[in-house]
Amino acid sequence: MSLSVVTFTERGKYLALDLGGTNFRVLVVKIRTGMRNSVRMYNKIYAIPLEIMQGTGEELFDHIVQCISDFLDYMGMKNTRLPLGFTFSFPCNQTGIDKGDLVSWTKGFKATDCEGYDVVDLLREAIKRRNEFDLDIVAIVNDTVGTMMTCAYEDPKCQIGLIAGTGSNVCYMEEMNNIEFVEGDEGQMCVNTEWGGFGENDNTEDIRTRYDREVDGGSLNPGKQRFEKMTSGMYLGEIVRQILIDLTKRGLLFRGRITERLKTKGIFETKFLSQIESDRLALLQVRSILQSLGLDSTCDDSIIVKEVCGAVSRRAAQLCGAGMAAVVDKIRENRGLDHLEITVGVDGTLYKLHPHFSTILKDTVRELAPNCKVDFILSEDGSGKGAALITAVAQFIK
Ligand code: ADP
Ligand code: MG
Repeated sequence: MSLSVVTFTERGKYLALDLGGTNFRVLVVKIRTGMRNSVRMYNKIYAIPLEIMQGTGEELFDHIVQCISDFLDYMGMKNTRLPLGFTFSFPCNQTGIDKGDLVSWTKGFKATDCEGYDVVDLLREAIKRRNEFDLDIVAIVNDTVGTMMTCAYEDPKCQIGLIAGTGSNVCYMEEMNNIEFVEGDEGQMCVNTEWGGFGENDNTEDIRTRYDREVDGGSLNPGKQRFEKMTSGMYLGEIVRQILIDLTKRGLLFRGRITERLKTKGIFETKFLSQIESDRLALLQVRSILQSLGLDSTCDDSIIVKEVCGAVSRRAAQLCGAGMAAVVDKIRENRGLDHLEITVGVDGTLYKLHPHFSTILKDTVRELAPNCKVDFILSEDGSGKGAALITAVAQFIK
């Protein structure tokens, strides 16, 4: 996607979908231009039941279209054929602005008969099956790209998008002359790194622990997304749980008793890391958090659990920081610069709410890429707004 030639003079009403995070959302985005660019959004969250996430592709896309239908009714917009931007945050082979073949599901999704297919086609077919309303699907967008574009709308130095939420990923703007498989040397192009998949060829084995292997083995996509499984919100709590089990087995924790509770996958969500690691939290409160999870702990246990949480989240932040440092320094090198100033647009609850994650990530980038000055700005719903902005631009070019 070459977007450098485009200035944002687009306006109008757009529909956006955000699939691939904790929540599936349908949005209407109104873009107005003028003295102050303004973007207004209305959105509704819809649940995707587990049996649909992991059922057939047809069921999944029928459900998505059912949600769109409900949303259009709710907004009173059934009869307007709106342009739609589809934020689809899974690895795709994108061959056009509205064409993306799903490479593989990640993050808890596993619907059949989708991998290898163009998800825009799958959505169009589901809309046809329902035969109730029409939409003009203009663009398919990765959440990192939406996040970058949303921030770039306000800060032209923003040329990187980072997600630290359910998953972990980065995109950035690359010089065309460094992209071999696309003709032309002018301008820039957005590259979605899909860095969550880093390590699938065994090149991170020396830093993976047996806890990482345990988490990977128990996941829906063993062997895949190994970097993501060490760095993102969906997995950090599970890594902590694996370590706690091991420490308990060795008699170092919970009086050596492995309870059914501790054996329950998913009890330890990443939000508990944020709570436990909060600087203002007294040990007694850590104990009561553990108690609320059904884990009976002594004071020593609480200290150890806090230590474990800190180690897991610190490592995640450092790994993301190392990845980011590699990206910015490569951009600097490719542009033949001694010094690079660049802005990263960021989205994701792990980045936004964890008490230390963002600080450690930034410190790591500063340390590992000393020739780059990297600013981080929070994107306000890049997945929704970004999809609409890109749709606006794509429609304008079309
Ligand atoms: P997305 O799913 O689009 O990436 P989010 O950015 O909301 O959405 O990220 C959701 C992830 O954030 C979940 O995996 C969840 O475990 C994690 N999370 C939720 N609350 C917190 C918190 N307080 N601190 C750290 N991580 C959190
Ligand atoms: Mg998201």
